[in-house]
Amino acid sequence: MRKNVVVGNWKMNLNRKEAIMLVEEVLCLLPDNSIEVVFAPSNVYLYKINKMCLNFRLINTAAQNICSKEKGAFTGEVSASMVNSLSVKYTILGHSERRLYYNETNEDLRNKVDIALSNNLQVIFCCGESSDHRDLGAHFDWVRSQLEESVFHLDIDNLSNIVLAYEPIWAIGTGVTASPTQAEEMHCFIRNLVADKYSLEVADNITILYGGSCNPNNAKELFALENVDGGLIGGASLDSKSFIDIIKSF
Ligand code: PEP
Repeated sequence: MRKNVVVGNWKMNLNRKEAIMLVEEVLCLLPDNSIEVVFAPSNVYLYKINKMCLNFRLINTAAQNICSKEKGAFTGEVSASMVNSLSVKYTILGHSERRLYYNETNEDLRNKVDIALSNNLQVIFCCGESSDHRDLGAHFDWVRSQLEESVFHLDIDNLSNIVLAYEPIWAIGTGVTASPTQAEEMHCFIRNLVADKYSLEVADNITILYGGSCNPNNAKELFALENVDGGLIGGASLDSKSFIDIIKSF
C-alpha cells in the first residue's frame, strides 16, 4: 500500500549519547499524523534505537546497508539475518555513497535485495543519476537501468516490500535540491516504469521517496507533488527540530 514515509539516514554521524537524545527529542515532538518515520542509525546503535521505538506504531528503524553474503568469514560485515534478529523493519540499499565509495554495482545490489527480502527485511532502494548523466540527458535511462538490473526481477509479492527512493547524486549533501518539476518528472517516470513492468495497480501502490538536500524549507513543496510520497533525509535528519519540521510538512 502506498504510504507516506520520512526516513532519516544518519550515515556515519552521532555518538551514542547524541543518537539517543535525537530520538528522544523526535519521539517527544512527533505530530499526530499518519506518516511513517524511520531512523537509520549506525548499526552500533540499531538495537538500542529500535528498542526506543517499539511502542510507537508508525516509527521504525533501518540498517544503512547489509552484506551481500548470508553468513561466514566476512570480517566487519553485518548480515541481513543479524539485522532482522533485532526486529528492524528495513534496510537501505543502493545509496549513492555505497555505489561510489564501495563500488556497489547493480548486480551486487540485486543480490543484496534478494538477501534482504529472504530475511524478511523490507528494502528502501535508492536510485539516481549524477550531474554528468543529467547534463547528457541520460538521467532517465540511467535510473531505468538501475531499477531493471536490481529490482525488476522481483515478483509482485516481493516488490510490495520495496520502497523506492529517487536521490539525484548532485543533490545529496550539496544544498542543491531537485526542483519540483525535476522531482515530479522523475518520480512519474519511475511510477510509469513500475506500471509497464507490473501493473497500474502495483505502480499506484508503490512508495517513492525523494532524497537530496530536503529540508524544512523545501519539504512542503516536494511532498505536495503527486508522485512524491515522502523523503529520505540526510543532513537535516540529524537535528530534531529540522527533522520534525520535515515530518510536519505533509
Ligand atoms: C542522503 O544521503 O540520502 C541524503 C538525501 O542526504 P542529504 O539530505 O544530506 O542531501
